[in-house]
Amino acid sequence: MKLIDQLKSKYSEISYLHSAAALMAWDMRTCIPLKGAEMRAEALGYISTLAFRKSVSEEVGALLGQLNENKVQEELTEDEKAMVRVASKSYKRAKAIPPELHQKYSVLTSNSEKVWEKARKENDFNSLEPYLEEIVELSREMARLYGFEDNPYDALLEGFEEGMTARKLRKIIEPLKSDLIPFIKKIVEEGELADASLLEGRFNRRAQEKLSRKVLKLIGYDFDAGRLDETVHPFTIGIGVNDVRVTTKYTSCEFTPSLFGSIHEGGHAIYEQGLPISLKETPLYGACSLGIHESQSRMMENMVGRSREFLSFFYPQIQKAYPSNFKNVPLDEFYRSVNNVKPSLIRIEADEVTYNLHIMIRFELEEALIKGDLRVSDLPKAWNAKMKEYLGIVPDTDSDGVLQDIHWPSGMIGYFPSYMLGNLYAAQMYSKARQEIPGLDKRIEMGDVLSLVDWLRKNIHSMGRRYEPEKLLKAATGKELDPSYFLKYVKEKYSNIYQI
Ligand code: ZN
Repeated sequence: MKLIDQLKSKYSEISYLHSAAALMAWDMRTCIPLKGAEMRAEALGYISTLAFRKSVSEEVGALLGQLNENKVQEELTEDEKAMVRVASKSYKRAKAIPPELHQKYSVLTSNSEKVWEKARKENDFNSLEPYLEEIVELSREMARLYGFEDNPYDALLEGFEEGMTARKLRKIIEPLKSDLIPFIKKIVEEGELADASLLEGRFNRRAQEKLSRKVLKLIGYDFDAGRLDETVHPFTIGIGVNDVRVTTKYTSCEFTPSLFGSIHEGGHAIYEQGLPISLKETPLYGACSLGIHESQSRMMENMVGRSREFLSFFYPQIQKAYPSNFKNVPLDEFYRSVNNVKPSLIRIEADEVTYNLHIMIRFELEEALIKGDLRVSDLPKAWNAKMKEYLGIVPDTDSDGVLQDIHWPSGMIGYFPSYMLGNLYAAQMYSKARQEIPGLDKRIEMGDVLSLVDWLRKNIHSMGRRYEPEKLLKAATGKELDPSYFLKYVKEKYSNIYQI
């Protein structure tokens, strides 16, 4: 068998194990009987470890060594070269960490998650502090082992967004910050908030589910290659080719969380449903990066779902679903109420204008921790100071502040920037799509989102992991990442909404 075919066959095995693990994880998060969870967690851990071991086996190492030789490379197609590149990179990264350190980190973070849950409930940062200290210390150790040029944080960031560095982020953040902070201030001082209470009431669960299904179909989600279920913490999961599942959460007093949550998860899901089947079971069958993944969900949720164009098509269906709530509410009022901008304490509840500021705060703090410029014990104070500076508000409790996210207690340092990058990528892609698709706004007003999805299929989804995020963005939009697209988008939309 040719070397590349041997590698592919290894990756087939790995992808079957991932598929089994994903199905177990989906079941665990949606419908497992309470008492079954413990045993399942063990089995899932075992299968995942098995997949990991296979991907870092000596056999795979030797294969990659040979496949990277010049004369073997010459024989490979472009896709095969990309497969070798992606597999080699993840092999090297996985091998950089000794198994004992890996094990130590995973025990530490799983304990720390439990402590965090209680600490957040009881507003008790002190109990989490020693765990965070150890997480930071081990993360620094891992950064050293991964290797970096001038900033240890880059080595961690690389695990979530290939090719991104703290320096590049800072270059993007500076113009964003200096434009967004005064813009938000202007909205707060001069704009008039819409009446968000019109979104509250009693909302039948079945009607919510019906709307979620309708909207998922509209944005191109294929129910023959997936399903929609209910869960407490919504997520999307790819089980395998033609099986990408979404979940949502229904609350009885509001329907917008399930509606916009479904659109968000649907954006993730159509990305995975659109991955290139010709590359299935290879290292290239997957999303390019977390940031690119998030760009797909944010584009659907905010740029499409909360646009005047889309709502002018979809709002009548919302009115039909809840006549007693919305019969007398004009579109414009509804549109404004789902686009309220208000500095708030909690990231996951933030609107699309203030959201990036929440991320900047986290990025600056976690980078300082890893560089050794900030001590964990000073984290709550530093958090509150940045909240004051960027958003003009300070939480009363750490529960609503530094303790709100699971990422740090989970050991995911370097994850946050991908959320912001998602927003920025999305704006840049959307601007290009509008140039290339004649009358896109008009189409969306007619309920045609599929023209946009086709564009995304061609330029993003079908690429799989062939390119790194920077290259993919450049290939799709012709430009390097440029935050001005996002700024232009929010300024146009919200100057209009707030008449400022
Ligand atoms: Zn998301």
